[in-house]
Amino acid sequence: MADLLVLEGIRKSYNVGTPVETEVLHGIDMVIKLGEFVALMGPSGSGKSTLLNIIGLLDRPTSGSLLIGGEETTQLSDADLTKLRAHTIGFVFQYHHLISAFTARENVLMPMLVDRGRPDSEMEMRADELLDWVGLARWRDNRAMNMSGGQQQRVAVARALAMDPLLVLADEPTGNLDTASARSVFELMRRFNVERSTTFLFVTHNHDLADRCDRIVEVVDGRITEDRVNPEGKSRR
Ligand code: ADP
Ligand code: MG
Repeated sequence: MADLLVLEGIRKSYNVGTPVETEVLHGIDMVIKLGEFVALMGPSGSGKSTLLNIIGLLDRPTSGSLLIGGEETTQLSDADLTKLRAHTIGFVFQYHHLISAFTARENVLMPMLVDRGRPDSEMEMRADELLDWVGLARWRDNRAMNMSGGQQQRVAVARALAMDPLLVLADEPTGNLDTASARSVFELMRRFNVERSTTFLFVTHNHDLADRCDRIVEVVDGRITEDRVNPEGKSRR
């Protein structure tokens, strides 16, 4: 499989040039191949979200190189980063970040609307197909605020997939859910990965879910301390 992400010597400092300047990533080297489902683990404060924000082009590294699909991204303009992000990367966060007064369908349409301006029937079909796929076809006209936490997170997964991204970055997407909902959200992502070869980077503290990923990377204090493949991950139930 081709390399989707190549990180070399990624460092990140916050508050650069001030007395409280702190380096939180101390040189991350990592290659993620197309189609991998990778668990990212590690204690709170170890730099997992910082790393995801950099890979997701939401923040820039202080130094180092980040290639996405072979393209060096660290020299790109903000406008080019925005464009690359919209077409390549989907996000799922711990708190779903849905627009609560919007319906499930409107929330899933949002990334396509931002990209293309106004709704058309193709976009609506895509939104409905994704909502069906996450098991929420009957709920599509319900406002997000009237849905359960598990349902909201499934809408968030559908929204992350709306632009058919190569990569989904999921930052503790199940951290806030009960065991059954966490499992169902994980299974959706895993099934999408297996069926469509979408690459996932999934931050979790849950060892049972991590054991079902293709690979487990551990970050402690801004450094990768472990990186192991998990060949049985796909078949584990
Ligand atoms: P994790 O996601 O593993 O819990 P984070 O990436 O959120 O870790 O944080 C890593 C470290 O960077 C922590 O010490 C945190 O306090 C610090 N940090 C995160 N974001 C900022 C920021 N915007 N400004 C300053 N420090 C930050
Ligand atoms: Mg975090």
